Amino acid sequence: MNKALEEWAKEHDVKIEKDSKEEEIDGMCEICGIREAKHVCIKCGRKVCSADFWTMLGICKLCLPEAEMKKWRKEHPF
Ligand SMILES: [Zn+2]
Ligand SMILES: [Zn+2]
Repeated sequence: MNKALEEWAKEHDVKIEKDSKEEEIDGMCEICGIREAKHVCIKCGRKVCSADFWTMLGICKLCLPEAEMKKWRKEHPF
């Protein structure tokens, strides 16, 4: 687990499930509504597609907008 990521999660009150298992998800993405949902956001519980999801964080792009992610990546380069 990336240390900067852990700290970010703590700051934003996000629980990172270390043993979250892949589940079959029915239905469409709740963000774009056009693609099949593949993930569930650990923060808001929305079912979202891969394009609207930060796989490495387990958080959807509504909870963590792309702009904020870019800013965060800049501050915490991997
Ligand atoms: Zn989507
Ligand atoms: Zn979310």
